[in-house]
Amino acid sequence: MAIAATQTADGAAASERRGRQPLSFNIDVDMCVIGGGLAGLTLALESAKKGASVVLLESRHIGWNASGHNMGSVMPGYGVSVHDLIDRVGFDNTRELWALAQEGADYIRRTADAIGNVGLSEGALEVSTVDAGDKLIGRLQMLGDDFGTEVEGWQTDRVREALKTSRYFHAIHYPKAFQIDAAQYLQGLARLAEEAGVRIFENTPAVSIDPNGIRKRVVTPSARLRASHIVLAGNIHIGAPAMRLAGTLMPVWRYAAVTEPLGEALSDVIAYKGSVTDAGGVDHFRIVEGDRLMWASPETTWNARPQGFAWAIQRRIKTVFPPLGDVKIDRVFGGTFGQTVHGMPQIGRLRPGLWVVSGFGRQGLNTSSMGGDLISRSILWGDDRWKLFSPFELVWAGGVGGRVVGQVTGSLSRGVAAAAGTLARWREQARQREQARERMRETRIIAARVRSEQAAQRAAQLRQAQERIELNRIEGERMSQDEDAA
Ligand SMILES: Cc1cc2nc3c(=O)[nH]c(=O)nc-3n(C[C@H](O)[C@H](O)[C@H](O)COP(=O)(O)OP(=O)(O)OC[C@H]3O[C@@H](n4cnc5c(N)ncnc54)[C@H](O)[C@@H]3O)c2cc1C
Repeated sequence: MAIAATQTADGAAASERRGRQPLSFNIDVDMCVIGGGLAGLTLALESAKKGASVVLLESRHIGWNASGHNMGSVMPGYGVSVHDLIDRVGFDNTRELWALAQEGADYIRRTADAIGNVGLSEGALEVSTVDAGDKLIGRLQMLGDDFGTEVEGWQTDRVREALKTSRYFHAIHYPKAFQIDAAQYLQGLARLAEEAGVRIFENTPAVSIDPNGIRKRVVTPSARLRASHIVLAGNIHIGAPAMRLAGTLMPVWRYAAVTEPLGEALSDVIAYKGSVTDAGGVDHFRIVEGDRLMWASPETTWNARPQGFAWAIQRRIKTVFPPLGDVKIDRVFGGTFGQTVHGMPQIGRLRPGLWVVSGFGRQGLNTSSMGGDLISRSILWGDDRWKLFSPFELVWAGGVGGRVVGQVTGSLSRGVAAAAGTLARWREQARQREQARERMRETRIIAARVRSEQAAQRAAQLRQAQERIELNRIEGERMSQDEDAA
């Protein structure tokens, strides 16, 4: 198995990366954004476009973590089900939150257009690993009628025409979802931000902040900064400047691989061009670069070498699509995202002049873009829709103990999803076996019926023949009597 040295989702974007200088002088600005991922860069770009002077501090380099190493699928909504949201904040607020998430997706589409060349492709399929078509109809109606999301229900036959595997049943098709090359998008976003006037400093961690007073202070290893607003967009790595905030996120490492070119074997089993996720949250894959497969599934709550998961991903691909066999893995990559206890992102004001955009979890493309754009509007234009996120408080995620629990419950729920899938496939096979048995029973009954009908027919024919013989005999006797008489 060949594994390239790069850990990036896209090697080209990594090589295009240009180094930026660390901050080495004191500076006064309107806004200091801490963290150069999708959330921080979107916020910095939108604030500079509105006329603010903005500095963005990045402790390593732009795109080294999740924002530059993900599957690039832009989906509607959040990583939390719409039913859970309604339970928590009611129907009307859920609709508003849903509309905001859609604004995030629309934002990425517009910005991808402005950046150009980010490999945008359309459509996403959420496949069910259990045979539960009735539940699907309810969800489709709610998403379509109540939340204005374009959705289609796909029956199992249609799903299996697009994806040649018996593991999937029904699906929800999102024709307006799309995917991008995440690394190219992020580098493009940084370029747009700089063109709009944002000053980005790499290798510059914010080591402490003082959010008191009108002018807040940020300390970096070799300079100090003063700003009217500080935005914490550091995901799980925020560290010392906001230890309490860091404690509200459970870090999850997710790993993905890109195969070597698979030629026609790939299009024989996967005829769908968009991205595919299973409803149990186990697998996520899509075709990239024509005939390669990009596949994510393993997760840990500790930092592991992505290369160590090449074999697991190879095995997973073979399990779902046996005809592909042992595919060759070209590169493996991974990143960390922060998972909140309630599953919703942390978006809002912590105190006057101190803001947070973080905790985007597995679905962080539309949501982090929306969060960045929304907080920029809040700070500069007074948009107060960030209050919609207030019911999702900062809840302690449980530190190291929480991670262990997270790993166990994560594996359990993914294990439960996998077990449910196995059960559904077993049920389907049992149903098929039962149907075959039923067909055989019917065939036997028909054959017996035919045999008895044929026997009855033959008996009738025999009887008729005997009657004919008897009649002939009687007729013959009558004729010979007539002849004798004559
Ligand atoms: C393998 C994988 C696949 C994924 N696929 C998808 C997908 O298909 N669709 C989807 O919607 N989501 C996906 N996600 C999730 C998504 O990538 C993340 O939710 C999102 O990128 C998080 O963005 P962010 O800006 O919050 O965090 P990050 O990308 O982590 O950026 C935060 C940045 O802040 C910097 N920072 C932190 N603290 C400091 C400090 N004190 N000083 C200076 N800088 C600091 C960090 O160095 C980092 O660069 C995936 C994630 C992974 C790992």
